Amino acid sequence: MSRVLVIGAGGVGSVAVHKMAMNKDIFSHITLASRTKSKCDAIAESVKQRTGVTIDTAALDADDVAATTAMIQAVKPVLVVNLALPYQDLNIMDACLAAGVNYLDTANYEPRDQAKFEYSWQWAYQDRFREAGLMALLGSGFDPGVTSVFATYTKKHLLDRIDTLDILDCNGGDTGLPFATNFNPEINLREVTAPSRHWENGQWIEGPALSHKQVFDFDQVGPKNMYLMYHEELESLAKFYPEINRIRFWMTFGDSYLKHLEVLENIGMTRIEPMMFQGREIIPIEFLKALLPEPSSLGPLTKGKTNIGTIATGEKDGKARTVYINNVCDHEEAYAETNNQAVSYTTGVPAMIGAALMVTGQWKGAGVFNMEQLDPDPFMDMLNKHGLPWKVQDLDAPLDF
Ligand code: NDP
Repeated sequence: MSRVLVIGAGGVGSVAVHKMAMNKDIFSHITLASRTKSKCDAIAESVKQRTGVTIDTAALDADDVAATTAMIQAVKPVLVVNLALPYQDLNIMDACLAAGVNYLDTANYEPRDQAKFEYSWQWAYQDRFREAGLMALLGSGFDPGVTSVFATYTKKHLLDRIDTLDILDCNGGDTGLPFATNFNPEINLREVTAPSRHWENGQWIEGPALSHKQVFDFDQVGPKNMYLMYHEELESLAKFYPEINRIRFWMTFGDSYLKHLEVLENIGMTRIEPMMFQGREIIPIEFLKALLPEPSSLGPLTKGKTNIGTIATGEKDGKARTVYINNVCDHEEAYAETNNQAVSYTTGVPAMIGAALMVTGQWKGAGVFNMEQLDPDPFMDMLNKHGLPWKVQDLDAPLDF
């Protein structure tokens, strides 16, 4: 029985809180705090209707460390679940240290003024969390999150040695809108417009953004164009699995999305440098975010499925083997259950599972942890029970891409 404080009332926060309320035996009391309290209240109402559980809500600017510390001290949670934006990660970690409480997030820290995300800033908290006897769990979403757990499960049960790992992220959902991003538009566009980068033979190989394309036939979705991209779990996988020769991340994009993105980039709308407009400073990508649909509004519009998984090649009992683990999630089913589409669902459910494993002590430790460092079995078991079932399939090797 554990009290938790969830920060961030977007699509991911909404799913996590719904799923926590569905598991009252694990999460005895939930407080949802975010910058805009009305969004917390709308989520609380949906949670009440769907589960009968009452949650507390509060307004909080998590960029304010003192206010966040005071709220943690007042709520007295055993865990703070950070589902705000990557910009808040360090401030919320500081507040957790000040208040003596464990921490979990789904996306690594990113400074506002650089389109750059890496773990170095959060790994630098290792000693402080260890000395305080507290646990910080980084990246408990789907990717990062489940994809790293799939890799860890592969190493524990399916392959003695992993030689290559490919992460394939397909969103086959259609909103019917010409252009929308399925999670925070600003974070999404910063990620997609960054140069591609993958790990090969001990070094990072860089290329222009979205320049390397492959077609892959995804189960229950069909053939889709997927593009080589940089993604944050590549960094932790390369660190914790130095045996893997090549680690790549692929994401599918439709032609219409890419056409819009190209135009927006060409005219400067995705820039993150401030500029003057009618006597005030604006940041073009923040202005663009204000024009685009809120991801949390896409729930009723999105049809189709996501299919995200990992393909690992390597050796088992002296024989070459290639294994594919993946989950398929239906947008409409996710919406019916939690009021949110599948991209929020596939992130919010693993956030709830990571939180459940921490508050029940199945995952415990002092310091800063990535998903690869923890036993995959209880997490994989909970994925099957809480809406994200997965399957393992042997593939012909070598991969033809
Ligand atoms: P949204 O933009 O929908 O929601 C973010 C929420 O955080 C909003 O409610 C926002 O408030 C709130 N917020 C922003 N700044 C602050 C602040 N300073 N203090 C308090 N609250 C704040 O994003 P998503 O729900 O789509 O994503 C949430 C997180 O999940 C992001 O970090 C994203 O990168 C991550 N993510 C991870 C994935 C994974 O697989 N690992 C996949 C998808 C997302 P307001 O409404 O007032 O703006």
